[in-house]
Amino acid sequence: MAVEPLIELRDVNKYYGQSHVLQDVSLTVHRGEVVVVIGPSGSGKSTLCRTVNRLETVQSGSILLDGEPLPDEGRGLARLRTEVGMVFQSFNLFAHKTVLQNVSLAQIKVRGRKREDADRRSRELLDRVGLAPQADKYPAQLSGGQQQRVAIARALAMDPKALLFDEPTSALDPEMINEVLDVMKQLAESGMTMVVVTHEMGFARSAADRVVFMDGGRIVEDRTPEEFFTAPESERAKDFLSKIL
Ligand code: ADP
Ligand code: MG
Repeated sequence: MAVEPLIELRDVNKYYGQSHVLQDVSLTVHRGEVVVVIGPSGSGKSTLCRTVNRLETVQSGSILLDGEPLPDEGRGLARLRTEVGMVFQSFNLFAHKTVLQNVSLAQIKVRGRKREDADRRSRELLDRVGLAPQADKYPAQLSGGQQQRVAIARALAMDPKALLFDEPTSALDPEMINEVLDVMKQLAESGMTMVVVTHEMGFARSAADRVVFMDGGRIVEDRTPEEFFTAPESERAKDFLSKIL
């Protein structure tokens, strides 16, 4: 089976002022692949995600989605944001809209779907993340884990080519982490292309095809979870793992 690259970063460099936060970063994510990104705080993980859906621009290097350079602006950029969904640590749901409305809104406004069709799709997705009974509630009536699952359903509603997760469980109480990771594992098994920044090593071991370890703005290791967890090559990865495992 030919596995095509879906996301490709080639020699990407990004600065914030004097600070060189992505240093010659090259990364290929194939269609259907799950890549877990780990590394210490400040190593550039969020910046990496944000450059892929162009929430941030880069100073040099190229980023390709499906073989095409990322669009700079306009319609192309709006389309990119639907093609590469993002799930953040904070769920960013609209507080004054119901769960169903939260999932339907962008389908109507961005995808141009009729409300009826959008709502039907939303209900399917809410069912998939185990929240069908919560469709008419407001975000504040849900737990953090439930809100994050709504955010995942909302991202899926755009029929994205890939989903980026930036520490999706970091803001959750411990007892809610697994319900979110379980939904992410199901997605991974369904063939969704995913880039996941997380400190959940159990998830990395069980769901990742590859683990990317970042430190100081660089990709230091890019290997299978098996290789990475049993025999990390770099001192920096060994040190990081010894602190979190
Ligand atoms: P991580 O997600 O791995 O913790 P980030 O990508 O958030 O790391 O940050 C990488 C580096 O870039 C850090 O040194 C951080 O302070 C810096 N940084 C992130 N966002 C900004 C910004 N908007 N302006 C200036 N510096 C930033
Ligand atoms: Mg971060």
